Amino acid sequence: MERTLDDYQEWIRNKIKKDEYEKYLNEGKDFINEEEIVEKLRTEKKADGKKVRDILQKSLAVQILTPEETATLLNVEDKELWQEMQDVASKVKKKVYDNRIVTFAPLYLSNLCVNNCLYCAFRKDNTIVKRRKLNLEEVKKETQVLTGEIGHKRLIVVYGEHPETDVDYMMESIKAIYSVKEKTKSGWGQIRRVNVNAAPLSIEKLKELKKVGLGTFQVFQETYHHQTYRKVHSPGTIKGDYNWRLYCMHRAMEAGIDDVGIGVLFGLYDWRFEAMGLLYHARELEKKFGVGPHTISFPRLEPASNTPFNQQSEYKVSDDDFKKLITVIRLAVPYTGMILTARESAQVRREVLDLGCTQTDASTRIGIGAYSDRYTTQEGERQQFILGDTRSLDEVIRELAERGYITSFCTAGYRCGRTGDKIMKLLRTGQEGKFCKLNAVLTFREWLDDFASEETKISGEVIINKEIEEIKKKIPTFYPKLMEYYEKIKKGERDLYLYLPVS
Ligand code: SAM
Ligand code: SF4
Repeated sequence: MERTLDDYQEWIRNKIKKDEYEKYLNEGKDFINEEEIVEKLRTEKKADGKKVRDILQKSLAVQILTPEETATLLNVEDKELWQEMQDVASKVKKKVYDNRIVTFAPLYLSNLCVNNCLYCAFRKDNTIVKRRKLNLEEVKKETQVLTGEIGHKRLIVVYGEHPETDVDYMMESIKAIYSVKEKTKSGWGQIRRVNVNAAPLSIEKLKELKKVGLGTFQVFQETYHHQTYRKVHSPGTIKGDYNWRLYCMHRAMEAGIDDVGIGVLFGLYDWRFEAMGLLYHARELEKKFGVGPHTISFPRLEPASNTPFNQQSEYKVSDDDFKKLITVIRLAVPYTGMILTARESAQVRREVLDLGCTQTDASTRIGIGAYSDRYTTQEGERQQFILGDTRSLDEVIRELAERGYITSFCTAGYRCGRTGDKIMKLLRTGQEGKFCKLNAVLTFREWLDDFASEETKISGEVIINKEIEEIKKKIPTFYPKLMEYYEKIKKGERDLYLYLPVS
């Protein structure tokens, strides 16, 4: 049945369930205490080297920092101290995640949207964008390219906010993605983890989404600064409700989704304030649910078609400050995954990866239907912003291997029940990094045999052999089983992983 304008308005009115966040407010206030953040950023200045180094020791012990400590790091001015902070950030990353990098692809399923975010090309007032929602056949076609031609195993699926793409569509599309099994050169490919980046949902809808095997549920606050939030998100729209968005991870946890991803769209307000906002959010989740965010994202505002706001913002973040904010996030929330996207140029990605990023996308297309009809359409008309790095997965993996990183397609952890507080415990003690290496090796073997170019194979073989040697030395008990699976994969078996039981 066709929806009328009244139906749309009714849907918008009913979307927000105020009682699901009001219960968390403290005398009507949320947990982003702006006066306190400003005060800490004002007072925690000019720390001496000893104080900064003491804080770095805490990061190295994989402990979340306090607001004071984070403000101190954000205020460091001395160049040598920043260098030291960057070195420690890399060490923390190595300790928690080792030299693994997880790769994924974003898959945009719809650009229908009822909101009007000033910075986004999908805002409802942007009439030059061609609106489109993929039907389930088209979703499968996109997935076939991603799994059969490129070799991705993980997706982040992205939706605008619209009644046509509410939770029923999300569930159907996720099921469609998981149903695709594509033949590859030596075996078969399939998406094994679907993460979601979507508008905030109610607890009831989040419970539904969990049933179809959702991975991480990601929602970025965009800006933690209340006034800026009101400025860029029109009042009267769903997104205009700051608290509905701020507490969506509380609802996710209540719904039993314990892998949640938070983020800021850097460039809307002062980056130091926003970094503090992320810390407050992480600490709030730890305090209330005993588990912090699974990932933190830090997209920078990019140019978007017919979106002049993005050029005019006075808070654009320079490359230098971008490095600083990544360094401090890594140090302040040492256990969390950090997602670096293809919004950034290849050069910037090269420079910041070592500072503690754990996940990155490649072969990225963000137009609706852009993977399967990549040769035909005008990107500007259907994508959300303009990408900085359009390199293929093959090129990115080759470069990573040449720099000593092993690309991991492993999703075993989640399938063994290692989510939420269980994975956090393993990350904090460095066990996750060690054991995940095993499955990183197995999944990388699959990818090399199915998708790698001859050139990438050469660098890939060097890194995989080095990793196998290390496993033989460091965790010898697992070595025979690893090699048994490794040989089976070489013969065409797929999706074999070593099971690490959760205590
Ligand atoms: N519509 C949902 C929402 O707003 O939460 C989810 C999808 S939205 C398409 C994903 C994210 O893209 C937003 O949360 C925002 O941070 C980011 N984004 C929007 N416009 C952008 C731009 N011009 N440059 C960089 N990132 C942008
Ligand atoms: Fe819609 Fe999300 Fe874009 Fe805002 S950021 S206009 S909610 S798609």
